[in-house]
Amino acid sequence: MKQVIYMDNAATTKTRPEVVEAMLPYFTERYGNPSSIYDFSTESKRAVSHARETIAKSLGAQTNEIYFTAGGSEADNWALIATAEAYEGKGKHIITSKIEHHAVLHTCQYLEKRGFEVTYLDVDEYGTVKLDELKKAIRPDTILISIMFANNEIGTIEPIKEIGTIAKEHGILFHTDAVQAYGHVPINVDEYNIDMLSSSGHKLNGPKGIGFLYIRKGVKIRSFIHGGAQERKRRAGTENVPGIVGYGKAVEIAMANMEERTKKETELRDYLMKRVMDEVPFARINGSRTSRLPNNVNFAFQFIEGESLLIKLDMAGICGSSGSACTSGSLDPSHVLLAIGLPHEIAHGSLRLTLSEENTREEIDYVAEQIKEVVAYLRGMSPLYEDYMRKNSKKRVG
Ligand SMILES: *Cc1c(COP(=O)(O)O)cnc(C)c1O
Repeated sequence: MKQVIYMDNAATTKTRPEVVEAMLPYFTERYGNPSSIYDFSTESKRAVSHARETIAKSLGAQTNEIYFTAGGSEADNWALIATAEAYEGKGKHIITSKIEHHAVLHTCQYLEKRGFEVTYLDVDEYGTVKLDELKKAIRPDTILISIMFANNEIGTIEPIKEIGTIAKEHGILFHTDAVQAYGHVPINVDEYNIDMLSSSGHKLNGPKGIGFLYIRKGVKIRSFIHGGAQERKRRAGTENVPGIVGYGKAVEIAMANMEERTKKETELRDYLMKRVMDEVPFARINGSRTSRLPNNVNFAFQFIEGESLLIKLDMAGICGSSGSACTSGSLDPSHVLLAIGLPHEIAHGSLRLTLSEENTREEIDYVAEQIKEVVAYLRGMSPLYEDYMRKNSKKRVG
């Protein structure tokens, strides 16, 4: 396989070798079904419990509040649909934001078709949910607030503690999609008043197809998958034992080295932003400059198409993204970039690079050079850019 510079860690991450190693015995030697009663299955049962303990501890939660799922999308669907069903006697109003992942947005649209009402909150120019608008949106029939912990496109970290407090004061459940934040920033479900939290293994150097939903004790949530008694009868199906073991290991490592990783990623992130902003004209940084995921960089370059930029960068061995992985292939600009107020033509010229601790300063230098070169090349072919430069040079002369 050809060598690449991988800067798309918000789309997925490399599974750590230690994680793979921890998983392997659960395919070949300890393959027992945790629900079986004979001694041979004890190892699988014990391994699932151990992972659940590691994860619960990382959030300040109880082990019986962690429910394994097949990933982040399932956790989001479950949190929204099953609480909507369980609480519809109280009301049918849900509050979310315009910048959520599609796993939340499309689930909300589904619920709207089922007679629920959803308020999609605006965000400010940095992608931050406005707390006064949230307060104004609350009604007596509001049953759920779902706001993501950190945005997957622009990296903005939301004021989760404040949102949790507002929800609690009004007796409304609070769900957060923490798929991008969990393991990258410290989270404590009690301190933040979080009632439900979604996460996904493959966004945290764990395997694909495993995630969990944290559900606070006392929340009346319906089962999402009906069948056997696994996951305290709330999510049926034989446990993905290797996946659970791998995710537990990934969480253990992520928690142990969070500080060091954050420091390294933040330095690389800021260096990349500085180089590009210093050297490429008509560029902007999307998302918050202060409350931001340590590994997220998101630029918009005027007069170019993000897709063309990505293809050129791919030819140079660089993996990045324009908008989110789910929107590439469609011609609509990202709903997140539109929500922060970017005009269509600028939103189209966006580039997201999400780093890992494995990236190096040399890679950043190479990527910055390539961006500079490719942006200049694409602008050289852009009639809009030519037009703009002609008008502006005339102005300067005149
Ligand atoms: C990736 C992602 C998801 C979906 O997770 P999967 O495990 O791929 O289903 C949900 N929300 C956010 C914010 C994400 O980044």
